[in-house]
This record gives sequence, C-alpha cells and structure tokens, in this order.
Amino acid sequence: MASSLIDLYGLTRAELAALVTGWDVSAVHAARLWKYLYLDGAESVAAMGELPARLRARLEAETMFGRLGIGKETHSGDGFTRKYLLALEDAHRIETVLMRYKGRTTACISSQVGCAMGCVFCATGQMGYTRHLTAGEIVAQAVHVDRVLRHTVEENPALAEAGHESPHHRHERLRNIVLMGMGEPLHNYDAVLKAVDILCDGAGMGLGAKKITLSTVGVVPGIVRLADENRQVCLAVSLHGATQAERAALVPAARKWTLDALMDACRYYTTKMDRRIFFEWTLIDGKNDGPEQAHAVGALLKGMPAQVNLIPLNPTSGYAGAPSHNAKKFQDVLAEYDLPSTVRQRRGIDIGAGCGQLAVAE
Ligand code: SAH
Ligand code: SF4
Repeated sequence: MASSLIDLYGLTRAELAALVTGWDVSAVHAARLWKYLYLDGAESVAAMGELPARLRARLEAETMFGRLGIGKETHSGDGFTRKYLLALEDAHRIETVLMRYKGRTTACISSQVGCAMGCVFCATGQMGYTRHLTAGEIVAQAVHVDRVLRHTVEENPALAEAGHESPHHRHERLRNIVLMGMGEPLHNYDAVLKAVDILCDGAGMGLGAKKITLSTVGVVPGIVRLADENRQVCLAVSLHGATQAERAALVPAARKWTLDALMDACRYYTTKMDRRIFFEWTLIDGKNDGPEQAHAVGALLKGMPAQVNLIPLNPTSGYAGAPSHNAKKFQDVLAEYDLPSTVRQRRGIDIGAGCGQLAVAE
C-alpha cells in the first residue's frame, strides 16, 4: 500500500527546497531541514526545533522520512559485521549490512525486494522479484547505518574525541557504500542513481561518488548509460564465467545480455570514463575455479583496466555448490596476464550476511 506522504529521503536538495518554498517558507529553512536530515541524523520532526512551527506542522502532516521499521539485528561472531532486517512501509522486508574492519566502515545496501535475475547460487535470486526500492528507501538504508554509527559513538564517548572539528562530524561517519545487497541496481537505474546523488550531496551526507561501488550482473544498457552520464561511482561487473555457455549456466541474465555484448559495453565504459572496472568472480569448487577458467578470464580481460575480485562461494540453501579453495592458484594465473586480483574476505557468513546470502521469507 503506497503512502500518499512525501518521502523526504527521496528528494534531492533542490527538490526539497522547491517543496518548502512552494509552501511559502524561506529557502533558508529548507537548507536547515536538509542538515537536520543528513548531518544531525534527526529522527523526527519534533527534533527539528530551529524550524518555524508552520513548517514543522506541514512536515508532520504531509511528509515522512526514515520509515524503515527496524526489525531483527544480528551481529557476526567476529564483531566485524552487523545485519539489519528492515521493514518497508508496505511490510516487505530487506536486509542491509554494516561492515567495520580496520577503520573502514562500509554499508552494503539493497536496491530491490528480491531480484529478477535468478543467478543459481544467489539466495536473493532464488526469492524472485517483488519490487524496486524507491530512492528514499535506498537513502534510508544509508542513513540508518549512519545513525547506528552515531549511536555507537554516543555509547562510547572516547571515540568522539578523535579530533573531528565540526560538531556535525563528532561521530564516525559512513564513508563507503557497496550496492551489493539484495537486487540488481541497474534494473532499478533511476532510483539507484537518484539515491547516489542525494547521498553525495556536499551539504548533506557528502559521500564521495568514488566511494560508492555499484555491482551489476551485467545489464548492458545500464553500463552504457553510466558512461554516457559520466557517473563517477565505481563499477563492479559480476562475470563468473568467461565463455557464453559457462556464464549463462550460472547467470540466466547472460542469455539476454551476452558475454560479447557485455564486454563491448565494458570496453566502451573503460574508454569513455578512463576508469577501471572490478570484475567479480564467485569461485565454485570444481565449476569455475580451475586453471582453464583462470586462463580464459585472463585472455578475456587482458589489456583492459580491470581488477578481478574473487569471492569464494557462500553457502545458500538452494544451491549445492561448494566454496573453492583454489583462489590463490587462480590469482597466480591472472597475474600472468597482468591482471590484479583480490580474494574477498569471508565475513558475516555465520549470520547469513555474506555475498548472495541475503534473503527474506516473503
Ligand atoms: N545484483 C548485483 C549485486 C548484488 S550481488 C550483482 O549480481 O552483481 C553481489 C555479488 O555477490 C555479486 O558479484 C554476486 O555474483 C555475488 N554472489 C551472489 N551469490 C553469491 C554466493 N552465494 N556466494 C558468493 N558470492 C555470491
Ligand atoms: Fe540478483 Fe545479483 Fe543475486 Fe544475481 S547475484 S540474483 S543479479 S542479486
């Protein structure tokens, strides 16, 4: 059931100013409202004491923000990962993950309820597709994680002494986002990129576009559009197979966007943007982790500005494959092609927060 209330988190700063001035309230107050939302982390209109009462009354009556019901929260045994089950207004649920490791704080954010792409090893894909998230619902996940960090500092004031000059920055801030949660971000291009714009706004959260990584299963028109619009986010492309047949067996979307078309789009992107692409490769024991496949990846990507991120398969209930132990050998072969690679740390597996493990019973 869609709400008729305006979601403040779904508005850019200019749209918010237009809304407020349309109510005959000064743009100065719109600017203060934006700061309440993104710098102060205000959780209610009542907390926005510096706004005129008339503006607050209209906000109370006609808008909402942060309407994510905070459901279950789980912490991984190693303390590095927290997973949040968040309820949307229509009662669908999504998962958002907070990862903190060596001073680096990253939120893994969802872009859809479920996913239409059906990758065989992915729990989200096995859920099927329910709906796109709105820009406001995507922004709200980042704000939620930022609030969690804020409260963590409040619980532990020593952290606030860390020399942050502005009172708005007295807590650990969210700095990195990966759009690698539930869903295919380029299937929901408009909402995802609008959310990116809102989160990068320098007068608000002020995230760096280059600290946001968008991971796609290979939606060719979306990759071309990112390049045409000169979008500065980092791009990760999920490859998993280096021939059309092997890829299509794991990634059904490859039937629609073939490997050839995908590589053409990737070359267009790297040339136009003068940026590298991260290629993700879920390593599955006995399936795509042998030297033959590593050489095929090397031949496919040789000469491209690329980095390969190997992700040992995380267990999901609907898939029989096992994680590979050949990551190091795979990397050695890639190095022969001058391809840098990393192996993704397996974190949050014990709480089902690893790549491809996010799923919610509908
Ligand atoms: N839909 C996007 C982003 C979400 S998935 C995409 O597919 O790229 C994020 C990454 O996790 C992708 O590279 C995906 O292939 C990988 N992944 C999915 N299921 C996995 C699993 N069970 N184990 C390891 N990685 C998985
Ligand atoms: Fe969707 Fe990505 Fe999972 Fe594939 S791996 S089903 S594209 S979320």
